[in-house]
Amino acid sequence: MSEAKPSVQARPEAEPSHQDARREASRGNPPETVKTFPGSFIGGACHRNGDAVLPVVNPADGRTFAAVVAADEADMDRAVQVACAAFPGWSELAASKRGEIVGRAARHVEAHLKELIPILTREQGKTLLESRIEAQRFGENIAWFADLADKVHGERVSLPDLTTYGLVVRKPIGVCGAIVPWNFPLTLAANKVAPAIAAGNTVVAKPAGTTPLTTLRFAELLSEGGLPEGVFNVITGSGSVAGEALVTHPLVRKVAFTGSTPVGERIMALCANGVKRVTLELGGSDPMIICDDADLAAAASAASMGRFYNCGQACLAVKRVYVFDSVADEVIEAIAVKARRLKVGPGDAEGTQMGPMHTAAGRAELAGQLERTLAAGGQLLTGGGPPEDLEPADGFFFAPTVVVDPPHDSPMAREEVFGPALPIWRVGDLDEAIERANDSPFGLGSSVWTRDLHRARQAAARIDAGYTWINSRTKVYDELPFGGWKSSGYGKEHGQEALDFYTESKSVVLGSG
Ligand code: NAD
Repeated sequence: MSEAKPSVQARPEAEPSHQDARREASRGNPPETVKTFPGSFIGGACHRNGDAVLPVVNPADGRTFAAVVAADEADMDRAVQVACAAFPGWSELAASKRGEIVGRAARHVEAHLKELIPILTREQGKTLLESRIEAQRFGENIAWFADLADKVHGERVSLPDLTTYGLVVRKPIGVCGAIVPWNFPLTLAANKVAPAIAAGNTVVAKPAGTTPLTTLRFAELLSEGGLPEGVFNVITGSGSVAGEALVTHPLVRKVAFTGSTPVGERIMALCANGVKRVTLELGGSDPMIICDDADLAAAASAASMGRFYNCGQACLAVKRVYVFDSVADEVIEAIAVKARRLKVGPGDAEGTQMGPMHTAAGRAELAGQLERTLAAGGQLLTGGGPPEDLEPADGFFFAPTVVVDPPHDSPMAREEVFGPALPIWRVGDLDEAIERANDSPFGLGSSVWTRDLHRARQAAARIDAGYTWINSRTKVYDELPFGGWKSSGYGKEHGQEALDFYTESKSVVLGSG
């Protein structure tokens, strides 16, 4: 999906901080008083350099309420040099000391989570409840990895020659680039930053050009909480300029990216130069299978929540439902009723259950996928465009949408649908459901609803995806590794395994001579 292009605007006299951005975000701001904020946080301080700025738009009214200075290659070079200079001191600290520092910084962030919530809603569009949940998960995730800092263990290996033995030791990689999309700016940053710094690396992060404010503020909070200068730095800017400058910088040894599959493929190709380490968390089109013996009400709730949470803009959203024919009418009706009842509105308005989409471009893309799908077949049960009681010209709203039985080669079946529209298909049995579920270029998450243990085991064994939930909402746990198969990615975030992707292993032979 495209992001806002930098443009040149007049800058205010005074130098506002990212805390000022929070105040602006929480009180509402007429367009004529838009302020421009420093776009970088390098070596423990805010920086502004060039004249190009990125407008920050409130998706609930389409208005620019702030702007940040966009970084160029020179800014990125500076951030990477600072991170590189910080690496020896940080990586050589005792792991327990590093964990203690990250834990203290995480607690400081947790004590200030309320500051992040209104900024996140204002720049991303999600409801205040969704922002609160994301902010909490962000704090928990950093604290979880802080506790693991001194648990990065190697191995002692016996060798055939009894006078020697081997050791496998794990070392941090160096400067890591973290590239983050706009849908969950906090948690998707934490998934990278937390294991990276806990393992002794230093980081330069680049948030999406449309959601810089939350990231810049949490960088300040980590620094205020005692994270040493240069360990975590943020550079804002477009993907094509700042993003590529980060990926191709010769001192960056690893790139962790979350975003769309085409950009992930480009980043992987760029990382071939220098054989950089790479973690890719990419697009998904997660199937949910609902069998005839399932708790149908619970399954319908999970489908609705899984599809419409965050206005359908989640990699792990439920994007295709396959329901057994014999119970299909009941399930489809239950999901459609839930979709019709969801209250759509500005994320900070009382009672809102689903906010706007993040950009006008995203909404247009969704409308196009829906139109092409319905032209090929299928029945539109509810939704299909902006809600009737909200002005489409103002915010980027889209009504919760349900489509039944579109062709299996239509856009809603084959492409990633990144918005609140759910296709549902009737299937004859579990074999057909699994075959359909696997008929996708993606393999991120999946879920199955059944009370039959044999069916549950079949689904978990045969669905090609990095995660399968059985009779459970699609919630991600810090404790379990998460990562996509096929075009959905490479590598793992979360779980102890995440640390493997931020360390190199070295074999050491200890002889007796
Ligand atoms: P995107 O790929 O357009 O952008 C993601 C990030 O990459 C942004 O920060 C952007 O500025 C940057 N970027 C863009 N082009 C770049 C380039 N050439 N070089 C370096 N950086 C570049 O994705 P998006 O539209 O912001 O996010 C939505 C996508 O992210 C969806 O496909 C969604 O499924 C995916 N996603 C995946 C996961 C996961 O964990 N698998 C999680 C959330 C979102």
